[in-house]
Amino acid sequence: MKQPAFELRDVHYSYRLHGQSVPALRGMNLTIQQGEMVAIQGPSGSGKSTLLYLLGCMLDADRGLIRILGHEVGRLGDREKAYFRNRQLGFVFQQFHLLTSRDVLGNIVLPASYPLESPGPKKDYRARAKAIAERLGLGERLSHKPQELSGGQQQRVAIARALIRDAPVILADEPTGNLDSKSSEEILNLLKELHYEGKTVVIITHSKEVAAQCQRTIWIRDGQVVEGEDRTPPVAVERAFDFPRLTGLGFWNLLRESLPQALDNLWRNRTRTLLTMMGVVVGVASVLSMITLGTFTKDKILQSYATLGINTLAFNAYPNWALQAKDVQGPMFQSLNIDRDMKPLPKIFPEIRRIAPHYADGMYSAIYSGRSIQNEILVTGINEDTFPITRRELAMGSPIQPFHVRNKSSVCVIGFEVAERLFQRQNPIGEPIVVAVDEANFSCVVIGVSKPMYAKERRFRPDLEVSVPYTYFLSLPVGWWQRGLREMLIEVDASADVEMTGKKLQAFFEKRYGKAGRFSASSNTVLVAQMRRFLTLFTVLLGCIAAVTLIVGGMGITNMMLVSVNERLREIGLRKALGASNQAIRQLFFAESLFLCFTAGLFGLGMGVLAYQGLIYTGSQFMENLRYEWVFNAWAFIIAFVAILLTGILSGLGPAVKAEKLQVIEALRSE
Ligand code: ADP
Repeated sequence: MKQPAFELRDVHYSYRLHGQSVPALRGMNLTIQQGEMVAIQGPSGSGKSTLLYLLGCMLDADRGLIRILGHEVGRLGDREKAYFRNRQLGFVFQQFHLLTSRDVLGNIVLPASYPLESPGPKKDYRARAKAIAERLGLGERLSHKPQELSGGQQQRVAIARALIRDAPVILADEPTGNLDSKSSEEILNLLKELHYEGKTVVIITHSKEVAAQCQRTIWIRDGQVVEGEDRTPPVAVERAFDFPRLTGLGFWNLLRESLPQALDNLWRNRTRTLLTMMGVVVGVASVLSMITLGTFTKDKILQSYATLGINTLAFNAYPNWALQAKDVQGPMFQSLNIDRDMKPLPKIFPEIRRIAPHYADGMYSAIYSGRSIQNEILVTGINEDTFPITRRELAMGSPIQPFHVRNKSSVCVIGFEVAERLFQRQNPIGEPIVVAVDEANFSCVVIGVSKPMYAKERRFRPDLEVSVPYTYFLSLPVGWWQRGLREMLIEVDASADVEMTGKKLQAFFEKRYGKAGRFSASSNTVLVAQMRRFLTLFTVLLGCIAAVTLIVGGMGITNMMLVSVNERLREIGLRKALGASNQAIRQLFFAESLFLCFTAGLFGLGMGVLAYQGLIYTGSQFMENLRYEWVFNAWAFIIAFVAILLTGILSGLGPAVKAEKLQVIEALRSE
């Protein structure tokens, strides 16, 4: 059964303008048979163009039925309509609508790249385009740009473009409106030729001469057909036509079709492209370098703390001075008992690896054969575990051993500065020194010298310490207060939580002594944890500031792409008319902004590495304990990469959707 080319039943269409509806078609009825050549005439504003865009599947009717080659347009999706325009309909416009960036050949083959969704291999349409151009007398002009051609030649290019897909229907909107009479005649003859070959030709025209050459003229006025019913018997041509399965746009289709276009467009506006990319380059570079530097600084600072031991804690026990007399139950707490309170602890808390009592008394003087250090010496009573717990190492000699503790040996390990000042170049090992305060004094034999050690606080000066076995310390005439055990140094297993152990110990002694004592655990770990939190926050803050830079850069891209949409309105309209689905248009703009962002992002990553390495190098020139090194922070790269991706997507979204939403008719009419 032969289907009419076009069948319209009671079709209505209104434009919406500032909330008002402007009716253009009001109940149009029309049949055009296959193989006809029909002119559509009517006064300006009667709805001719609107009709043509409805016939071209570029507008959707508000009401009524439109059937083209047996297919009901209202039931077709966006992709099918795009496919339909591409394969069944060829458009010829009054303004030619050629892409000025492409030569004649490029313009003729343009529809062949659409629709992107159609499956199967793409044929080479260039040979076919050349043949068609040859036939239309454009053989010599293939590499010319449209602006180098006359109006008649440009319109022939447009007709060649309409023929490239061998569409059975040609829709022409005032095809001779912009041409002189000679060119008009040529174009009209061309259209007639196509008609004789079996194509259906619909021409909108103002010209009586043009209309006279057609088989039939349909007059419309106020959006209705007023004259020119379907009377002529159709030329017998039959076309079977079915839709292929239109799949979604594959990634490779996107790359193959959209990216070259995107690149082409970016290249044509390269100054603008470059300036816009700068924003993202700077943004990405600052995200990468800020996060890397922040983490780098954090690690450097934490490293200096880690040397003091992160699985150790100091436990202190003091009388509760704030306790009221009436609250006191039982004896007042004075100090811990080493046998009852300290020695059993490792059994009660298995995570305790080492434990040492810490006794100390200050302001002593040290004397050795006429040389002395006045009132600066701190005498400490320790055991064999003290040095390992506090990570102290010996510069020479040997450490305090368990048998020294058992035997109350009068031996001592002296701080580095003590050794330097009392012995100068001499070897102190085996030499006796005298340690004195007020009238009391004692002597000990030096068995070891500890390495110089940095202390956080001035009052602890490990380099001015004289350490003796605590049993010996307790036998010395030190003050009553100093003989009480009020501090223990504890090392826990690496896997244990120091903070937890501290809290458990505190609870343990609070239970044992009640309110009489005040117990507290302090640990570098806690300090380090606080420091880490602070430094992490600091890094995040730096990253956020950098992110703002990136957002500004991304807004630059959005802005540029929006401008680009506006500049390319006609191009977008044309591509849609030639068979680009909305999705394909959206992808095109997405491809552009993604490409921009990724290229800029890659440069940004490079710049970022240069920036932070440069800063570390500069820093290493001014800070003695900072050495230059190569830094690679995987997380910073991951975050920067995600940021690039997000920027690309977010900055492309608005323009892409805007381009997609464009009505073909408005896009084509814009200048
Ligand atoms: P013709 O092609 O016969 O000159 P059109 O189809 O262009 O007529 O226009 C039909 C009617 O629709 C006119 O009244 C016109 O003002 C109106 N119209 C056309 N395009 C738009 C538009 N984009 N927005 C609002 N009204 C429009």
